[in-house]
Amino acid sequence: MKQSVRETLRCAGRTPADLSAFEILRKTFGHTEFRGAQRAIIERIAAGGDALVLMPTGGGKSLCYQVPALLREGTAVVVSPLIALMQDQVAALTQLGVRAAFLNSTLAIDEAQAVEQAFVRGELDLIYVAPERLTTPRCLDLIGRARVALFAIDEAHCVSQWGHDFRPDYLQLSVLHERFPAVPRIALTATADPQTRTEIVQRLALADAQVFVSSFDRPNIRYAIVDKVDARAQLLRFIRAEHSGEAGIVYCLSRRRVEETAHWLRGQGIAALAYHAGMDSAARNEHQARFQREDGVVMVATIAFGMGIDKPDVRFVAHIDLPKSIEGYYQETGRAGRDGLAADAWMAYGLGDVVQQRRLIDLSEAGEAHKRISAAKLDALLALCETVQCRRVRLLAYFGEASGPCGNCDTCLAPPQTWDATEAARKALSAIYRTGQRFGAVHLVDVLRGRTNERVLRWDHHRLGVFGIGADLADAQWRGVFRQLVALGYAEVDHGAYGAFKLTAAARPVLRGEQRVEMRRSAQTPPARAARDRIARESTARKPDATLLVRLKEWRREEARRQAVPAYVILHDATLSEIAQRSPRDLGALAVISGMGQKRLDRYGRALIDLIGASGENGDNGA
Ligand code: ADP
Ligand code: ZN
Repeated sequence: MKQSVRETLRCAGRTPADLSAFEILRKTFGHTEFRGAQRAIIERIAAGGDALVLMPTGGGKSLCYQVPALLREGTAVVVSPLIALMQDQVAALTQLGVRAAFLNSTLAIDEAQAVEQAFVRGELDLIYVAPERLTTPRCLDLIGRARVALFAIDEAHCVSQWGHDFRPDYLQLSVLHERFPAVPRIALTATADPQTRTEIVQRLALADAQVFVSSFDRPNIRYAIVDKVDARAQLLRFIRAEHSGEAGIVYCLSRRRVEETAHWLRGQGIAALAYHAGMDSAARNEHQARFQREDGVVMVATIAFGMGIDKPDVRFVAHIDLPKSIEGYYQETGRAGRDGLAADAWMAYGLGDVVQQRRLIDLSEAGEAHKRISAAKLDALLALCETVQCRRVRLLAYFGEASGPCGNCDTCLAPPQTWDATEAARKALSAIYRTGQRFGAVHLVDVLRGRTNERVLRWDHHRLGVFGIGADLADAQWRGVFRQLVALGYAEVDHGAYGAFKLTAAARPVLRGEQRVEMRRSAQTPPARAARDRIARESTARKPDATLLVRLKEWRREEARRQAVPAYVILHDATLSEIAQRSPRDLGALAVISGMGQKRLDRYGRALIDLIGASGENGDNGA
């Protein structure tokens, strides 16, 4: 097959590599255009060069080695750290008619031997191998006997000892270059920071690799951060209003909170599962598999859940606790909408989160330098939470990318109002000071609002000048003021003293009336559905035919069940939507739909056309 493609291209008179890459993109993968740097990367590898690819999650990294794998003689060896991921990738490639297999611990000895033999005989286009197996003498020997098209090292940031995904086996991968210097290598990662990049280049001996850095923007993800009042109830409202029946991930800080939230959501009729490192591995694997394979599961998890989740149709990622840094937040939210369709990153955040995260840093065993870094990272995240500017502008700026207001985040859609909080800040800071910097927010609000409860009386705080000076604001507003005072650095929370508020040096000019303080007015709900619907209408001229879409999904579910693969391996959501929208009546019209490809057309084309025809007739009868 490879030979015949090449022949065709030679006749067409264009550069063979260029055209055949395009041909493979269209015929095999069913896409019409390369995305971003894909084409340049593919050219580089196809020509035998090395590459380091930094692309955000969902950017389209796989094609960067899958297309060269089909262009070059021999088999592409793909190193991938996660077994579930490998299996799904191989299943998806097989659907496309690509000869792919994997070698990992799930195979029986005779199965593994069969794969090895096919590899050595040159019968595979791609072989996926777990890193611990690849670096064994036996496997290296096998590679020596086979013809290798290229090495692809996926999730290359796993070589970084400072990252949280460190895999010792990855350190051994430099052996590939030492033993097989003539084989081109491509390393891929979605981790953006310069330190990790340097480590990858050093540890994998990629000094001569061309580096491709893509924009880290994920335009289809809508960011929203709301004031936390009752996180669970807010979460439920968000899921019901925006994502009923859709797949999503809810991140929590602690195992207990994961368990409780999943249990509670189930009680509310949501298909929620729990995932955290404290569960036994069988239960964890089962939940992960169900999330991956079933439609519309909500996974409630700690950050233990995530890497290697290659589900393209995760429609939302929600945080009901504050992450530790923008890096963490961006990586977690990046798991939404990998298929490029609209998705939400939603977070509820409140005073308790600020206090808790600061406490975790203070109480951690880490050295002073590390604590300082952690505190700075938290501050950057708090600034994102409190900003009145576009969230995306702030996020991308954090990764060194300049951009303009995005029109697809809460602050762009419903610009938050600010208010002159100078007086309120002075009152709150005075209350902290006058009560001896020994009390938490609950008591301080009681004092400001003039409540003569038992604790106020015990400490004689009803006799203070600050008692009752804050009757003009409600409790929730005062909590917002205290939260922002901490986030903005005017006050800090002392964890040695049960969360007592203390003043920082920055508080002095405010207390003296020399500095104005602006605060963000609280918003408990993201921009109304109306705004979102308007955008949806503007972006798609015609809404897909809802009943047809439902039928297509039913057909896909049945097909996936029969073949025992995840639904998106059969056809992606984006492809189904486009089919529903265009209602193609013949194979020719179906063929031009993005994501179809020749193999899928051969396999499912007839069934789809019949289904569309039947739906049309029913529709006519009903009208
Ligand atoms: P990554 O590994 O970078 O997270 P994937 O390789 O899984 O991303 O690709 C993400 C999604 O984008 C997949 O659904 C894939 O089919 C789709 N995709 C990749 N390249 C293209 C392209 N050129 N045109 C259309 N869709 C693409
Ligand atoms: Zn924006």
